[in-house]
Amino acid sequence: MTYIHDTIVKLQKTSPAQAEFYQAVEEVLDSLQPILETNEKYKKHAIIERMVEPERQIMFRVPWVDDQGNVQVNKGYRIEFNSALGPYKGGLRFHPSVNAGIIKFLGFEQIFKNALTGLPIGGGKGGANFDPKGKSDGEIMRFCQSFINELYRHIGPTTDVPAGDIGVGAREIGYMFGQYKRLTGNYDGVFTGKSLLWGGSLVRKEATGYGCVYFAQYMLEAKGDTLAGKRCLVSGAGNVAIYTIEKLYQLGAIPVTCSDSSGTIYHETGINLETLKELKEVRKVRLNEYVTAHPEAKFIPAADYPADGHAVWRIPAQLAFPCATQNELTEADAQALIANGVIGVSEGANMPSTQEAVEVFLDARISYGPGKAANAGGVATSQLEMAQNASMQRWSFEEVDEKLKVIMKNIFLSASETAAEFGEPHNLVLGANIAGFRKVADAMIEQGV
Ligand code: GLU
Repeated sequence: MTYIHDTIVKLQKTSPAQAEFYQAVEEVLDSLQPILETNEKYKKHAIIERMVEPERQIMFRVPWVDDQGNVQVNKGYRIEFNSALGPYKGGLRFHPSVNAGIIKFLGFEQIFKNALTGLPIGGGKGGANFDPKGKSDGEIMRFCQSFINELYRHIGPTTDVPAGDIGVGAREIGYMFGQYKRLTGNYDGVFTGKSLLWGGSLVRKEATGYGCVYFAQYMLEAKGDTLAGKRCLVSGAGNVAIYTIEKLYQLGAIPVTCSDSSGTIYHETGINLETLKELKEVRKVRLNEYVTAHPEAKFIPAADYPADGHAVWRIPAQLAFPCATQNELTEADAQALIANGVIGVSEGANMPSTQEAVEVFLDARISYGPGKAANAGGVATSQLEMAQNASMQRWSFEEVDEKLKVIMKNIFLSASETAAEFGEPHNLVLGANIAGFRKVADAMIEQGV
């Protein structure tokens, strides 16, 4: 009885709710009003109806054996959303919150983000409701291998190229690539975010965080300001947050926070990057251990967060970099940031601000870089990795970083010029959505039904 009851409860918990997908679609459609009203062709070709419907969705069983010898089962997903501009491209997320709706929202965002980079990549996303937390290396490997036992038949270097996202880094990409190679016999550039030893690109690991900071830099520059001396709030403690913090220091800013699911660190004189990397990249432990090395820093446990938001956004600063996950910044958080004098927000995560929070930023006329523009440096550098793989070349760190800067600058210009074209120069949400949409929609029309 308990077994059946538990299974039903588990099924209900993982049923594919689509709230985040609807949220992402609503935000994009709201911004598209001005272009849809003046362009009959999009209606005539049913572009919106076609765009919100994924080209293909793959859902599969991922059985694996844990260290105790028990068989575990997870749900695997890959959504191949839109291939108008190139092969499906987008990360894989391993996190217990993953369901069909989350993957659908992420895949939808990816279409516009990838289009904005100006590179030939379509939109896709995937993942599993697998929780890597507390799993042994062997368990991670067996899970990744089982995931690829199904996914290998759907991906390829010119068709669908997955990468990492939350819970998927170089180690997981390595196990997945190894299994793909065993099953197909092909040494393909079928994943990005690979190890530097076998086809990875320099700067890929740093790219999302670095790009997010470059984007903030361009937003500030447009207003005659710079990052130098600015106090910055960063949420998250994963790959994106770590390299956002690194680049902020390089450009003279002072990142004072980071966070994980256990709580938030507030280090008034600046986060110690070495300690953060040691805790998260080497020892893979909770952030509360940070205060052991730095007793002057403050740890705010997640249990003490305000009921209507996140403690990290209540700390006074000038810039905010949400680099954790979707909907991590609420309306009340946005109001607190504005009240405390924040002048800019650059999103390293995908859709980290709720719709209401975005409204608060736009109404306050601060510099606001939405995720699909500000965090596009990761996927853009993935495309640079694909280009290096296809041409059997290897570019230097400086070369890739230079290309990343140019791409981020172009994304900023494309979003801000499009925003100005439609009469709302401050509104990069509108600018990014229309600029991305136009490319994909026009390509779809040219390619016929
Ligand atoms: N997961 C990252 C994103 O959300 C990167 C995707 C990729 O490199 O393909 O854009």
